[in-house]
Amino acid sequence: MKKLRFFIALFMAKLATFLLKMLGRNATYMPGEVALKISKDFLGHLKLPETVICVTGTNGKTTVSNLLTSILTKNGYDVTNNSFGSNVQAGIAAVLLQDSDIFGRAKKKIAVLEVDERSSLLIHPYIKPDYLIVNNIMRDSVKRNAHTDFISYIITSALTEKTKLILNGDDLITSSLAPQCKNRMYFGLDAEKPEVSDKPFLRDIVYCPDCGAPLESEYLRYNHIGRMYCTACEKKSPDRDYLVTAIDRENSFFTVDFKGESHTFTLINDNIVNVYNSCAVVAMLTILGLSPEQIEKGFSQSKIVKSRFDTMSAGKLKITFQMSKGQNPIACTRCFNYVASIPKENKLLIVSTDDISDNTNESENVCWLYDCDYSIFSDESIAKIIFTGPRCRDHLLRALIAGVNKEKIVLCEDTDKAVSLIDPEKYTDIYVLYDLYRQEDAAKMRVQFKKLGEGTK
Ligand SMILES: [Zn+2]
Repeated sequence: MKKLRFFIALFMAKLATFLLKMLGRNATYMPGEVALKISKDFLGHLKLPETVICVTGTNGKTTVSNLLTSILTKNGYDVTNNSFGSNVQAGIAAVLLQDSDIFGRAKKKIAVLEVDERSSLLIHPYIKPDYLIVNNIMRDSVKRNAHTDFISYIITSALTEKTKLILNGDDLITSSLAPQCKNRMYFGLDAEKPEVSDKPFLRDIVYCPDCGAPLESEYLRYNHIGRMYCTACEKKSPDRDYLVTAIDRENSFFTVDFKGESHTFTLINDNIVNVYNSCAVVAMLTILGLSPEQIEKGFSQSKIVKSRFDTMSAGKLKITFQMSKGQNPIACTRCFNYVASIPKENKLLIVSTDDISDNTNESENVCWLYDCDYSIFSDESIAKIIFTGPRCRDHLLRALIAGVNKEKIVLCEDTDKAVSLIDPEKYTDIYVLYDLYRQEDAAKMRVQFKKLGEGTK
C-alpha cells in the first residue's frame, strides 16, 4: 500500500513539475509538497544517487553547496542539487524527483543537497547522507531556530553513525556534533590569527559541552569561532585535517595544508567566512577523490552567487551589494564588519535588513537587532548610514544605544527613495546591505544607481 502511494505521489509530482515548467514557472518546491501530501515517507522510497552529500549549518551552506556543485560540474560530474530551490523537505523532494526516472530511481550519480538545519529530523531519517558538511552553528532567527543547543540536538538526533562528517574544527559547537559518527574530518584556519583575544560581542558557547566548566580561548576570530579549551577537562577544539595556512588577499589566493602537503587555490571572496566555506569545499572534494589541480580549475572559474555579493560601477560611483540576512544577528554582524574592514574612507551604507515576510501571518520580532553589533557603525571609515524600511526607527534606536553618532544617520522609511537621498558628488563608495526578502528592492536600487551615476561622469 505504501509503495502504491509512493508511485501515485511520484506520478502526481512529476505531472505537477511538467505543468509548472510548461507555464514557465519554478518547479523547485510545489511538486515536492504534492508528493509529501500523498506519501509522507516519499523521500524514503526514492532511489538516491550513489553518493549523497548534504550541507547544513547556520551560515554559508548555500555558498558551500553552490561551490561544490559548480566545481564538480566543471570537472565533468553530473550533479543533482537544490542550488536554485528550497532547502526544506519539499524542496529536497522536488529536486530529487526531478532528477529521477518514472520508477523514482536517481538518474545522476551524485547529489549535493543544501539542508535547512532545522529540517534535519524531517529529512535525514529518509536521506542518510554519505557525507554531511556543517560549517558552523550560531544563533539565528530566535523564532525559527530557537537556540544553538536545540539545533545541535536536532542534527545529532537525525544522523546515524553511517554518515561521514566534515566539520568546522574552529567551532566547538559544530565539532562536538553527533559523537555517534566516528568518521569525522575537521577543517579550519590558522592564517591571520588574532593576536589578542578580545571577548567578542557574542559567543554562543561559553561552557564546556562535556563537563560544564567555563571555556577559555586561545583566540576567537568572531563570536565563538576560534580555538577554545575547557578549564577543567580535556575538551578542546580538535586538530584540523584541512588547514588554511595562508591568505594572499592581494593576489586572491589561499593555501590549504592537508595530507602533509600545501596547495594553493583561487580565493573567490576574501571575507573570512568565505575562506572557511572554501576550505570546507577543498576538504569535501579531496575526500571525493578530486586532485588539487581539478579543485583549482573549479575555483578559478567560480564566483560567489551574484545574489549574495555583487559590485557595480555607475559613473564615479562604486556600489557593493551584500546580502545581509535579517533575523540572523551573526550573519548581519559579519556583513557590518566586512564593510567596516574594507580599506577605504568616506563610505556610505544603505541598510535594508527588515525581514518583511516576518509579519505576514504573525507578530513581528525585533529582538535580533540587539544581538547585532551596531557599534561597528561608529567606525571612522563609515561616513553616512541610511536605515531604510518600515523598521528604520528601530535601527536608529539600536544604533544610538550602541553609541553611534546620530549625525551620521539618515532615516528613510520608503526604500524606493533611499538612493535619491545620496549626494553622488560627496559619496562615491556605497554599500547596500539587504535582506533575503529585499532582493527586489536591491534590484530597483541598481537601476536608480545607474541613473544617479550617469550625472557623475
Ligand atoms: Zn570540560
